[in-house]
Amino acid sequence: MRVIVQKFGGTSVASPEVRELVMRKIAKARDQGFNPVVVVSAMGRQGAPYATDTLIGVARTAYKNIAARELDQIMYCGEMISAVVMAGTLQAAGMDAVMLTGGHAGIITDANFTDARILKCDPTRLISLLKQRKVPVVCGFQGMTAENEFTTLGRGGSDTTAAALGAALNAEMVEIYTDVDGIMTADPRIVNNAKILDCISYGEVCQLAHQGAKVIHPRAVEIAMQKNIPLIVKSTFSDAPGTLITNIAKEDTVGADVIDRVATGVTYLTNIVQIKVQLDDAAGNDASFQVFKTMADSGISVDLINVHPGQIMFTINADHAERALVKLKRQGYEIEVLENCAKVSVVGGGMREVPGVMASFIEALTKNRIAILQTVDSHTSISALVPHSDVETAVKSLHEKFSLSN
Ligand code: ASP
Ligand code: MG
Repeated sequence: MRVIVQKFGGTSVASPEVRELVMRKIAKARDQGFNPVVVVSAMGRQGAPYATDTLIGVARTAYKNIAARELDQIMYCGEMISAVVMAGTLQAAGMDAVMLTGGHAGIITDANFTDARILKCDPTRLISLLKQRKVPVVCGFQGMTAENEFTTLGRGGSDTTAAALGAALNAEMVEIYTDVDGIMTADPRIVNNAKILDCISYGEVCQLAHQGAKVIHPRAVEIAMQKNIPLIVKSTFSDAPGTLITNIAKEDTVGADVIDRVATGVTYLTNIVQIKVQLDDAAGNDASFQVFKTMADSGISVDLINVHPGQIMFTINADHAERALVKLKRQGYEIEVLENCAKVSVVGGGMREVPGVMASFIEALTKNRIAILQTVDSHTSISALVPHSDVETAVKSLHEKFSLSN
């Protein structure tokens, strides 16, 4: 059996006209000899009656801090409605479609409501439906605990559902349908000559996603990677081939040009606050441990960490800044805070051990007089913290410096 998982995001299921396009993508896969498993997100974006954000808003009219378990029960409804409507659309076109919840499809999670982790995916029911030539239409983003509680997988989690089903079914590929033609070298709202990538590695796309690109949920990529299932990000609205996400070290999958490129994309994250904590030299390493422990105990994740004798520097999301500062000040630390920062990153699996990459990165920023507040790098990425007001110039300049539109 040739299984393909086809996941359609919110904008791809938002109206009868687009659902018709979705139906054709599914029919085409069947014509090509595949057994499709369809995964859908809730319909539309914020403001649409059954979009996830709208449903959260409804729950919060009762109580702003409504418990995560209750929030999951209402968020669950968005994908239920969407999957029913999509199953109906396919039935109207003569397909034997069957709507399934995440639990029906065998997705078992922990009980971490609103951000549950998949513990197991049992594809027995899906396999039996596929054998009968039925088309399962699965609610994305959902799971069920061993105690039959409904859970959701974290915002954007329909991608995760698709990857998990793809892995459990050993699918030939997982298609992620969206409203753009593929993954781009940069945000096209900033860089007007940003390009669609033909191919990208699992590792690179994870880095791009973690560093701010809204392309695909990184957890989905991590799951697909474990079983080497190819993911394709493509548009519901065109016939463009999309971006293939795979293990590009595998020689037979791609051309040499992909492996040769130094950089793959430029991305950015905003809403960042930099914190510097002065430490008493005599206090030694234990003092720096106490600072990070304070953050950890408050559930605040830290990034761009530099530990020096007498000083620690790190960044946090601005939404947590007030809480972090209260805690640190209460413990008597001397603190310096820099608000309105952004992190720009160049990602590329090919930059490992290539001399001059850092020089190019720094040159692209300094020639535009952009202050570099902190940097961090890995084998496959370089990032700098810059003032928020410079983020667009930084992205454009890095995109050009690394010849990403060529
Ligand atoms: N509907 C969910 C969300 O908006 C899941 C998804 O779209 O992937 O986060
Ligand atoms: Mg999404």
